[in-house]
Amino acid sequence: MIRVEAASIDKSYSGVRVLNQVSASFQPGRLTSLLGPSGSGKTTLLRVIGGFVAPDYGEIRFDGENVTAVPLWRRNVGMVFQSYALFPHMTVQENVAFGLHRHGVRGEAARKEAARALEMVRLTGLERRKPKELSGGQQQRVALARAIVTNPRVLLLDEPLSALDRRLRQEMQIELRHIQRESGLTTIFVTHDQEEALTLSDAVAILDHGKIVQEGRPEAIYERPRTRFAASFLGDANFFSGRVTGGGVEIAGGVVRTNDRLPAIGASATVAVRPEKMKICGAQAAASENSDENRLLAVVREIIYAGAVSTILLESADGSPIKILTQNRETSPAFPGDSVALAWSSTHSIIIEN
Ligand code: ADP
Ligand code: MG
Repeated sequence: MIRVEAASIDKSYSGVRVLNQVSASFQPGRLTSLLGPSGSGKTTLLRVIGGFVAPDYGEIRFDGENVTAVPLWRRNVGMVFQSYALFPHMTVQENVAFGLHRHGVRGEAARKEAARALEMVRLTGLERRKPKELSGGQQQRVALARAIVTNPRVLLLDEPLSALDRRLRQEMQIELRHIQRESGLTTIFVTHDQEEALTLSDAVAILDHGKIVQEGRPEAIYERPRTRFAASFLGDANFFSGRVTGGGVEIAGGVVRTNDRLPAIGASATVAVRPEKMKICGAQAAASENSDENRLLAVVREIIYAGAVSTILLESADGSPIKILTQNRETSPAFPGDSVALAWSSTHSIIIEN
């Protein structure tokens, strides 16, 4: 198990900056997701870490050792690409053993190692099949077996599940988590899917336009996003912008209270509130004695029923949209056209950078 570090990595293609002073640390034996929208530089960063692409500036370190100049074949990383890239004319066994041959492992030794890797991904018994005789999920397991068979120091996965349908993807997420724990490999997992990042990761690093904007445990980022981008890319959020007063942030419908440290009085500030932290409590409850609680009047516009939960779309006094998420325990707390008060605790008012 090794620690992987990227230090001040820059990379440009034809004068366009793709990675901009990227520094990140990937903990030994943990699965860290690189989460960001398409084009944010995730694949490029993964390729720089693996040695497929050289950075213009900066260092990659494995357990403190600078490996930036170490060529791909000596860096010993396992990589699963976005497209499976299995050899179609080879059997499962041959596909998995292929990487071993390059490491000089052949014959019975190679067969044993391949069997071990195939057992780990639960494909024992399918050794003689060709890729086209396997389902998409099984093909991706072969790719995973091929990546781990050489006992790599680091496992790099570039959106390995994106080609699978939703249900299979969810199954494979659980499976992948299991395999990663079992192997104990330091793993970097690229995804643009926030749910996937939350489900799989010990840690998440959020990438935006070639910069890491926040990294940490999924819960820590979800509960305390630092920027508007992080708040809306990992989860959903309502934003309230206004001026700082003594008691909080003054917006059209009142003052949003927070337990976070406020900028100087008079400065502009934005507060993010997660939709599930807000609840509806009839309009008459608008005046509250509890100063911890926030109250905001709004009109219900639409209720989107989704079985276990409903999303309620509302409009505040100044016409801003607000979204809340409720669990459908009892009957709906409101109907379209209702004037209601929204309540939430000050601990859930997060001051963010715009
Ligand atoms: P992501 O994986 O987050 O979608 P990428 O790292 O693939 O992002 O790409 C980031 C940006 O770099 C994109 O604008 C992409 O077009 C550009 N890019 C990536 N690889 C190359 C390349 N080999 N040559 C030129 N531009 C590239
Ligand atoms: Mg990519």
